[in-house]
Amino acid sequence: MVIILKENPGKSQLDNLISWIKSQGVTPHITQGIHQTIMGLVGDTAKIDIELLQQLEIVAAVKRVQEPYKNANRKFHPLDSIVKVGDTGIGGGTMTVIAGPCSVESEEQIITVARSVKASGAKILRGGAFKPRTSPYAFQGLRDEGIRLLLEAKKDTGLPIVTEIMDLSQLELFSEVDVIQVGARNMQNFELLKQLGHSNKPVLLKRGLANTYQELLMSAEYIMAFGNENVILCERGIRTFENYTRNTLDISAIPALKTLSHLPVIIDPSHAAGIARFVSPLSLSAVAAGADGLIIEVHNNPACARCDGMQSLTMPDFAALMKKINIVTNAREECNAL
Ligand code: PEP
Ligand code: MN
Repeated sequence: MVIILKENPGKSQLDNLISWIKSQGVTPHITQGIHQTIMGLVGDTAKIDIELLQQLEIVAAVKRVQEPYKNANRKFHPLDSIVKVGDTGIGGGTMTVIAGPCSVESEEQIITVARSVKASGAKILRGGAFKPRTSPYAFQGLRDEGIRLLLEAKKDTGLPIVTEIMDLSQLELFSEVDVIQVGARNMQNFELLKQLGHSNKPVLLKRGLANTYQELLMSAEYIMAFGNENVILCERGIRTFENYTRNTLDISAIPALKTLSHLPVIIDPSHAAGIARFVSPLSLSAVAAGADGLIIEVHNNPACARCDGMQSLTMPDFAALMKKINIVTNAREECNAL
């Protein structure tokens, strides 16, 4: 349920309303807009009498929210949420580029790539330490050592880091990680999502290979329901009948998720395409369609990468792409101003 309040509601009336709502066992979430204050009610609102609320002097309107996701719903929070990562804010019409190798392979590799992507304009460094591989015989990541090397690269460059968690038992190792990634395969690991809900670290939540927008938003809801509102949604390609590309990038996810939710939406063109040559056009189309950010795989020597070399950009190719991203971001701002 959403209560839209009249402009400048009196403080004592507002306080009375809040305590009455709490007494009904429901939690109010208040969003202060420029002209409007919105109160989203989370919990069992079945017993709440809409007509009674509508009669209150400070209430402009009351609406029931049909969707099962509440905290993630734009109806609860009409303004875009901005998730802070270091000095960067993801969301709200800005463009944040995250870049780095699929997997951390060595100190030299991660530091070389980190310095290079930073110089090209990336704001956050990615790198997998725990890798979800289809084959148990494939490289599984450097695990604890991978996290240690990422922290070295963070120290060297000042870039915040994002890396994937695969299991709750790894959580302690993430204490100095800036953004915890929940990968496509773990999008519905509800126990993991609940625990991340108790943390205050930003979570980069990737859409599962065969999950709907609503399922993605329900997974975000798991994290938010336990108190962590710092969720970044990521479309990384879904499984379709097409197998020329590794996955199919669902560009509609950008306007759709941004309509349904206030959370930032970023695009992973690397895992969507699976082919390095396609990363640039997919990135630029995502920027044009309004994505809040991109997460791009970049390697110092893609041909020798231990994971996902085929889809990894070289460092010079990433530098060239960043220039194009800046051009399309500026064009997007001009379009939005029309
Ligand atoms: C990754 O980011 O390296 C990764 C494994 O992503 P996804 O979960 O999207 O496959
Ligand atoms: Mn990868």
